[in-house]
Amino acid sequence: MALDTQVMAQARKALAKAPRKENKSSRRATVKTYHNFIAGEWVPSAGGETFENVNPADTHDVIGRFPLSTREDANAAVNAAQEAFAHWKHTPAPRRAELLFRLGEILIRDKETLAADMTREMGKVLKEAGGDVQEAIDCTYYTAGEGRRLHGFTTPAEMPNKFAMCVRQPVGLCGLITPWHFPMAIPSWKLIPALVCGNTVVIKPAEDTPLSTYNLVKACEEAGIPPGVVNLVTGSGETVGAALTNHPGVRLISFTGSTETGRLVASSCADRNAICSLEMGGKNAIMVMDDADIDLAIEGALWGAFGTSGQRCTASSRLIVHKKVYKRFSSKLVERTEALRMGNGADPKTDVGPVINGDAVKKIMEYIGIGQKEDGATLACGGKRLTRGDYANGFFIEPTVFTDVTPDMRIAQEEIFGPVTSVIPASSLEEAVEIANGVRYGLSASIYTQDVNRAFHAMNEMYTGIFYVNSSTIGAEVHLPFGGTKATGNGHREAGTQVLDIFSEWKSIYVDYSGKLQRAQIDQVEI
Ligand code: NAD
Repeated sequence: MALDTQVMAQARKALAKAPRKENKSSRRATVKTYHNFIAGEWVPSAGGETFENVNPADTHDVIGRFPLSTREDANAAVNAAQEAFAHWKHTPAPRRAELLFRLGEILIRDKETLAADMTREMGKVLKEAGGDVQEAIDCTYYTAGEGRRLHGFTTPAEMPNKFAMCVRQPVGLCGLITPWHFPMAIPSWKLIPALVCGNTVVIKPAEDTPLSTYNLVKACEEAGIPPGVVNLVTGSGETVGAALTNHPGVRLISFTGSTETGRLVASSCADRNAICSLEMGGKNAIMVMDDADIDLAIEGALWGAFGTSGQRCTASSRLIVHKKVYKRFSSKLVERTEALRMGNGADPKTDVGPVINGDAVKKIMEYIGIGQKEDGATLACGGKRLTRGDYANGFFIEPTVFTDVTPDMRIAQEEIFGPVTSVIPASSLEEAVEIANGVRYGLSASIYTQDVNRAFHAMNEMYTGIFYVNSSTIGAEVHLPFGGTKATGNGHREAGTQVLDIFSEWKSIYVDYSGKLQRAQIDQVEI
């Protein structure tokens, strides 16, 4: 804890020291141009085009220019990864893991600058950016440990003098397509298990946050991961993402993003019989029972709804509250929400940073309009975009609470992915669970109650991949499986040891040392 505070203080200092540029044009003149990483070389896009990565808290702050890559760039990266596969696959897993532990050390060493970079490109407050980097560190250490396990199993064979076992083998070349809101944690969840299992990869980060993934790949290079094993290609989903998804040489696509894009990715993979792991949207609910510690539930609701400006797949976008405590809960929630400070995530006084870009502003403001006009919910606080003073050049939307929401309303059904939450009344635990389950997603849910029976009932009845008791809907740890049901996923789980089932395939091996033909299911064995 103390170390974390110290690291964050240093990160703030690093940000404060960052050169302040005088005006828009001089800022642009000094902007750094970044490259793709293909076959161990940093190279521009073959097409020569770039796109700008800007700070969502101040769009005049241009962070860098990144390659607007083409299909040819994606193909070159796939070729490099294919070439590197034979060597990497035969590198013993404990040795692969050593390089990953080294990567973990580099991330620890650079945590403060990595967090500062992330806040600058993504907007989340510095403490949360530090958490994102920490998740990558935790994932690296935990998953690298698998280099000395990657357990298979042995099992009896049905014939005498015959041995049976099952081992993991790498799947081959993996395409990793990632979203912008956890720009280091999510790439690491995919990259580290892919590598420890012996695969080679091409990563395509989201357009809004290429720098954090660039930083991760740069650290891989420094750790000594051989050329071609990790390749980075930045650019649009429609071009680079689709090129990877459709490439016959890419055996597996691991995708995190919206359900709509995930469906496109899944259908392309199905066409060519590629393995496809999807982590997609959420509409997560906190249930607050009448016996709950209301103050604790409010803390959880604020953190879950407005942390990362509500831009988490696990965000608490629905608060289902027992009618007996509904008024008390709602008025306290509104009071606390109104007190949240908005601003640049680099400012230690900020509670809620900007949202990611202009499209996000448009979508979130549309939903706020739908909540008021189409749904007829009560806008209890927030609801405005801030455009003056310090907010003039950023994408700031007030933390917003709707009350008197009914389960069928669009704001209670659809993923808004912004600082907006809906408070929905319920008369009983059973009704709360029914409402909580009554959406197309199934990622995370939680209950606040003092009653163990109610907690276990909800735990059993919620059809989600993650469940919390007396805690918010966010806060997953890397050694437990992560993922969701229904429209959130397609049955895979990241993190934990379960992620190994995505990035390796089972091979069953039979060794017959009887010296004669033994036919399973046909020959009788004398007892
Ligand atoms: P998005 O779907 O817009 O983009 C995700 C990635 O897909 C980006 O890299 C994008 O460039 C790429 N992409 C876009 N079109 C593509 C195409 N046609 N082919 C291949 N790739 C393409 O999502 P986003 O806005 O970056 O992320 C937000 C979404 O991610 C939210 O819905 C959120 O709930 C979800 N999410 C889910 C989880 C989970 O584990 N369930 C975790 C984090 C985020």
